[in-house]
Amino acid sequence: MTDSNKNKYDAIIVGGGHNGLVCAAYLAKAGKKVIVLEANSQVGGGAVTSELCYGKRISYCAHFLNQLNTHVLKELNLAAHGLKFAARDLSTVSLDRDGDHLILTKNSAKGGGITKEEAVAYKNFMMLIHDYAKTLGFLMDSPPIDIFNPDWDDKLAALKLGWKLRVGLGAEKMSELLRMIGMNIRDVLNDEFENNKLKGALSFDAVLGTHTGPYSPGNFLNFLYRYAAGDSGALNIPEGGMGAVSNAIASSATASGAEVRTDARVRTINVENCAVSGVTLENGEIINSSMVISNANTKTTVFDLVGTRHFEADFVLRMTNYRMRGAAAKLHIALHALPDFKGLSKEDLANRLLIAPDQEDVERAFNHVKYGETSPSPMMEISIPSLVDKSLADNGHVLSATVQYAPYALKGGWTEEAKAAFLETCIDRIAEYAPDIREQIEHAEILTPKDLEDRFGMVGGNWHHGELTLDQMLMLRPVPEASRYALPLDGLYICGAGAHPGGGVMGAAGRNAAKAILKGEVK
Ligand SMILES: Cc1cc2nc3c(=O)[nH]c(=O)nc-3n(C[C@H](O)[C@H](O)[C@H](O)COP(=O)(O)OP(=O)(O)OC[C@H]3O[C@@H](n4cnc5c(N)ncnc54)[C@H](O)[C@@H]3O)c2cc1C
Repeated sequence: MTDSNKNKYDAIIVGGGHNGLVCAAYLAKAGKKVIVLEANSQVGGGAVTSELCYGKRISYCAHFLNQLNTHVLKELNLAAHGLKFAARDLSTVSLDRDGDHLILTKNSAKGGGITKEEAVAYKNFMMLIHDYAKTLGFLMDSPPIDIFNPDWDDKLAALKLGWKLRVGLGAEKMSELLRMIGMNIRDVLNDEFENNKLKGALSFDAVLGTHTGPYSPGNFLNFLYRYAAGDSGALNIPEGGMGAVSNAIASSATASGAEVRTDARVRTINVENCAVSGVTLENGEIINSSMVISNANTKTTVFDLVGTRHFEADFVLRMTNYRMRGAAAKLHIALHALPDFKGLSKEDLANRLLIAPDQEDVERAFNHVKYGETSPSPMMEISIPSLVDKSLADNGHVLSATVQYAPYALKGGWTEEAKAAFLETCIDRIAEYAPDIREQIEHAEILTPKDLEDRFGMVGGNWHHGELTLDQMLMLRPVPEASRYALPLDGLYICGAGAHPGGGVMGAAGRNAAKAILKGEVK
């Protein structure tokens, strides 16, 4: 290789989150010379495993693999690159203080005061949801339909959608879907069920990772999203934590010839003659390419890495107003031994545990975040992955919980005192269900939305790199001018959660971006 070619690539990918790695893998498979530049010392972004304390490791952000795109899994041959599952298809256990827990699978509900009639109603409801998810799920596997300049692929996709809706679903189900699509989850659930525990658990799924409560319009769609992605939303735990997923993708990418560099923060994306020309790293190194694909947050890409002077004012305004509020925090606890959750065996505890007793409680917890306060009674999704994966804890256990709600901009700021107080609130909350938990704690920490921004570049602490709401989805994501992975600057693309179809460890955005770029179909 001559010196002039050494630092020149067909494509540079800024950020080695799982989507950046997926994008790199597909481009490298197609023979492109690709380099991934990751700011942190390990790849994966929000899909990483890190040390919690001596002898204990934990999935730092994402903890369940419930959305991984099935094409990504197969096409990148992730099993051959080391991806194994420690547990598959877990149930959800919605916790009850008195031990009358509600246990939900894909199509069954028991315990928690569920009547026979309600169990049947749940089964029917979930069948409908899975039908809807199958009808719409294919939209996740390609760039959004271009409604302004449709080519044959767009026209075919539109026809397929129409066919799936009208013929596949039938008139009755289609009209019900159209009625529900813009609704809030509370109204949908109130139409279907009486049981508060059931409504609490299902409403939690609609608000998880969002800045919405059950009363917020449009979040039924978030609920549907869970089942439209991956293997119908089946709840899995990868062996070695979520970092193992990213490592398998990185291994697939490098096996195809991609270069992956860590500790390589990009300071600027360089522009010459109205087109990108490469990047400059924090250490001053320049790497050249006429194509830069950003897995970093879109706002970071536009405002910090490129600079607004290179874009039209209208686009800048739209990007400024692109909503990115996070409301989830992450709790990690190293445990000497398992706490006693009343009425649950060790096997039961290996499932997904929820604290979301009633949808009115979920809404009340959300109310605080609107005013810059933490919730005094937060909702939680809890996993104790060491029960199924011994590699995470040499002894004892690790507990990981996604906590709703905590604001990004806490009144008074996220001082050490404020963080410590919220950590205590969260532990107290779990202690309502496992009173002896404090005796078992070896170490505990909380990551606030601000920490998620500082550590992983998730602006506003939003894990979708932009709220996933009706007005920021599909051909509107992140904004209409950039909905097909190309930003309005020659050679600049996005491939992360901020692009269609959004966040979650899916890999779909990375795959779609690569496919669109390779076909040259990005418009
Ligand atoms: C608390 C929490 C819980 C979650 N739980 C789940 C879950 O259970 N299941 C699930 O599927 N999803 C979950 N998620 C969501 C999931 O983690 C994200 O949606 C996903 O990580 C987004 O992937 P990405 O590759 O698009 O972006 P990211 O993971 O955000 O990766 C972006 C990468 O770009 C890098 N970067 C940014 N700027 C630069 C720069 N200037 N130079 C170089 N590199 C840069 C960052 O360091 C990062 O590695 C959770 C997220 C959080 C925060």
